[in-house]
Amino acid sequence: MDTPTNKPLILFDIDETLINTDQLRILQRKTLADTLQKSDEDIANCFIEYYGDLEKTSDFDPDEFLAFASEKFGFPLEKLKDAFFQPTNFQMVLYPEVVETLANLRNKGYTLGIYSQGIRYSQEYKILVNNLMDFFDQQHRYVLKRKMDPAVIADLPENTIIIDDKAEVIEFLERFPNVIPLHIVRGEQNHVGEYTLSTLRDLFPILDTLRNAVDSEQ
Ligand SMILES: [Mg+2]
Repeated sequence: MDTPTNKPLILFDIDETLINTDQLRILQRKTLADTLQKSDEDIANCFIEYYGDLEKTSDFDPDEFLAFASEKFGFPLEKLKDAFFQPTNFQMVLYPEVVETLANLRNKGYTLGIYSQGIRYSQEYKILVNNLMDFFDQQHRYVLKRKMDPAVIADLPENTIIIDDKAEVIEFLERFPNVIPLHIVRGEQNHVGEYTLSTLRDLFPILDTLRNAVDSEQ
């Protein structure tokens, strides 16, 4: 019987790892267009104007954007907030295997966490509205404006597994001996590497391989 203390910490990126963020943007723009009675193009242009002032797209702050849109269209802020945060849009874009995978991992005794870039309340909303928050250990919910921060990674326990869709994040993480980065490339038919996932289900055979490697070292 495995003891939980042997199990590595597993951290999950949020956007394009747990939820289909491209699809979420499409749904949100449609809801905003319907609410404002504006064209898709009007809404797209409003986003472009707001994004123009940001250094990175992950600096997107819904409160700021919605205040900007409210002013631009002369429309009540609260109604725009309801449209932007419409729960069904966030729930429809959760990747289908996420709940079963997280539940399975937790049942096996793994400690799970988040490793996300962006504005905390906005990123946590994506987790909360999908009822996933309880899966993630309170000590390991990292939401940072710039997550490629060596100080954050250096403090993680030995053999922490981090799953992320961005190649630049994976390359950054590969520099640290205490973490095992796993690249998720959804929809890819041919895997790029041994530690590449096309869905989160691919995590299980990799965890077995890693455990065998650790066992044979002991
Ligand atoms: Mg991502």
